[in-house]
Parts: sequence; structure tokens; C-alpha cells
Amino acid sequence: MDNLKKLEVWFVTGTQHLYGPETLKQVAADSTNIAAAFDKNPKIPVKVVFKPIMTTPDSITELCTEANNSKQCVGLICWMHTFSPAKMWIKGLNLLNKPFLHLDPDVVARIAVWVRVASAYNDALNMKVARFGDNMRDVAVTEGNKVSAQIKMGYSVYGYGIGDLVKCVNEVSPSAIKKLLAEYGSEYKLTKAVAASDTLKEAARIELGMEEFLDAGSFKAFTTTFEDLYGLKQLPGLAVQRLMAKGYGFGAEGDWKTAALVRSMKVMSIGLKGGTSFMEDYTYHFDPKGMRVLGAHMLEVCPTIALAKPSVEIHPLSIGGKEDPARLVFKTAPGNAINVSVIDLGNRFRMIVNEVEVVKCPDMPNLPVASVLWKPLPDLKRGAAAWIMAGGAHHTGFSTSINSEYLEDFAGMMGVEYVLIGEKCDLASFKNELKWNEVYYHISEGIF
Ligand code: MN
Repeated sequence: MDNLKKLEVWFVTGTQHLYGPETLKQVAADSTNIAAAFDKNPKIPVKVVFKPIMTTPDSITELCTEANNSKQCVGLICWMHTFSPAKMWIKGLNLLNKPFLHLDPDVVARIAVWVRVASAYNDALNMKVARFGDNMRDVAVTEGNKVSAQIKMGYSVYGYGIGDLVKCVNEVSPSAIKKLLAEYGSEYKLTKAVAASDTLKEAARIELGMEEFLDAGSFKAFTTTFEDLYGLKQLPGLAVQRLMAKGYGFGAEGDWKTAALVRSMKVMSIGLKGGTSFMEDYTYHFDPKGMRVLGAHMLEVCPTIALAKPSVEIHPLSIGGKEDPARLVFKTAPGNAINVSVIDLGNRFRMIVNEVEVVKCPDMPNLPVASVLWKPLPDLKRGAAAWIMAGGAHHTGFSTSINSEYLEDFAGMMGVEYVLIGEKCDLASFKNELKWNEVYYHISEGIF
């Protein structure tokens, strides 16, 4: 995935002429130093560009228009050095369509999060999602209004018949497959039988064909569905896992909202420790001594969250009625993580974040897929109750790299509802929060 250093955040200082030229010179010098220090700070992953100090409404308006038109600029950091009257900013900020933050005392950590989120927001505004096949039939939560999503969250979803992908897959050259098989051999654990199998060759062919298709169309995320695989010999497993590791967002069963979300979460976490994956609440462990959730999917979990070198394995898959698929199998390291779901409520989108603690996962020989075991906060009983009340989906974006602060900023930039289920979650208050939000969004979006 791309480096964030080619993106910019502009450092803008507000003041006014009242103080005389000497003071303004000092303001400019201070601002230049601050911008340079932020730019050098390795925690802030984008370029910080100093902009001349703002002293008039016209210069502010001009700067905001310039920011709107800049492809590199993901947002503004505004600092009111002396006294910059708010009235001067009205026209410019009304026109500005990029996120901005006002400098506060706990600066660097806060800016680091915010610029990562602004970069993901900028990425979402230019995101195309490829949908191979349609939705898993009868599932509501993976669907939604794609036009509303584009208006609110920026990305656009393009549907394709599976034949368009199959054509790309069938055109892959034997030499490219051979090269990719060698890469599998060096990156993963695998037996000789798996390495020499036609199944793995077919998995490599699917990966190369998919990547070619996505690259040619400049797609940043994609979905598949096991109910529409006509012409593909296996459900894409290994291919999806590896493409996610390269930075593509993914959603299974046609889940384009989660595909786009996973991509955005991956952009936020570029260069950070840990990883980000498509995830599903696979099964619940109701042992009163420690209730847990097992996260996994049929195949498609991203190896960026792997604890150790993954192994490539081939096992039967009864769902989908295709040949046995290849997949990467691994566990995830214990630590803090989040699960995020975006749902379409009809009149708005809601983002639900659950903070979780990943715990050690025992061996599960009967589950031959990558998996994660976690304890949802505050605990499974209350966490699941809150999740269900909020309408959270079974599919999520899962990350060990970023926390709820990132998603709260992200929901704010997109103007979508945000609810957090964490350590302090109290069900009675949470229920009220949902009710109050109902009224707030009804009014804030206009009554019609
Ligand atoms: Mn699923």
C-alpha cells in the first residue's frame, strides 16, 4: 500500500493586522518553526506544509478554495496565534470541504491520529469498490443504499458479473503462476504436497487475475460471494487474504460497506504496528468462567494480524459447492483491538465500534481457517446486547493497529452516527443514547 508521505496537511495560522508588522513577523517565524517540527516528527505520517499567515477574510477564503482543489491536501491544521476574529473565517470555512482541526495542547499524538484519519477520508472520496456478483441472498445487513453511501462516505460501488473476473483469471500466464508459487514457498509454511498441488496453482491464478482486474480499474476494495462463483474453480481464499495484506479492502458475501471500511482502516494504520482485517463473529463461547467470541470467516482473514508465519493449507469447504480452496491459517497475538460495523438504517448510516481484548486462542484442529479469540468489552453479555440493540452486523473491520479514537474522528468527518461499546458501556444509558440519536439525526438531516 502507498506511503502517506505524498499527502499533505496544511499548517494555517490565523492572526490580524491590528498588532503591527513586527508582531506579525514573529507570528510567521513561530508558525514556520511549529510546522517544520510537525513535519519532521515521525509520528505524523504526512507532509506538514507551512502556509503564509492569514490576516484577511479574502486570504482565508482563497486558501480554503485552494485546499479544496488540491489532490495532495487531506486537511488543515489551524492555529489562532494571536487574535484572529471568527468573522474573517466564515466565508472560507463555509466553502472548505476538507477536514480541519484546531491546535490544542496535547498536540502531536492528537494530530497523528487526525491526519491518518483525514488521509483515509481523502482516500474514501476517491475509492472505487468492485463487487463481484451480488449480495448473499436474504441477508439485509450487508446491503444498503449505494447512492446514499457515495453522498455521505465518498466511495462508489461498481457491480460486475463474475464472468468479467473469470476472463482475467483465465488469461494469467503459466510463468506468472510459477513465480507466485515461489513467493508462497518463501513467505509461508507449506507441505510439499500442497506446494505441488493443482489447487495451489489455481489459487495463484485466481490471485493474479483478481489483482490484474482491480489494478486495471483502480479499485481499492472488493467483495465476493460464494453464491456466485460461476467459472471459478474455488472460492477465492488465499487470493483475498493476500490482496487484503497488500492494502485492498474486502467484504465477503457482497458486503461493500465493510469492504470500504476495511480499506479506510488500512489507510489509517499504514506503518503502524499490528494489522487490519475483514472479520466475522463466527461463534460464541458461553463458558461462565470466561465468555469469548471466536472471530474467523470461511477463509478470508488478513495475514497482517498473524502472530507468526502463516501456513498455506487445503481443506474441503462444503459451502459454495466448489473445489477445495487454499487458505492461510494462523492465530493473532493477544492485545487490544477493535471491531467496527457500518450499517444503513434507511435515513442514515451508523458506525458501531466495540473495543475488545484479544486473548490466547487454543488449537482448534476442526477449524482449519485463520481465527482470533477475543473478550468484548465490557463483557460478552453486555457487549453483545449493546451490539444487537445498535443493529451491528456479523461482519466487521477488525484492527489491532488503531483504536476507537480514529473511528470517532472518521465518523465525524463523514457526518455519520457513531456509537462506542467499551469498558464503560452501561446498557440503560446506551439504550437512551440510541433513542436520543434517533431524534438528533432526524432533526439535523432535515425533516422531509
Ligand atoms: Mn460472512
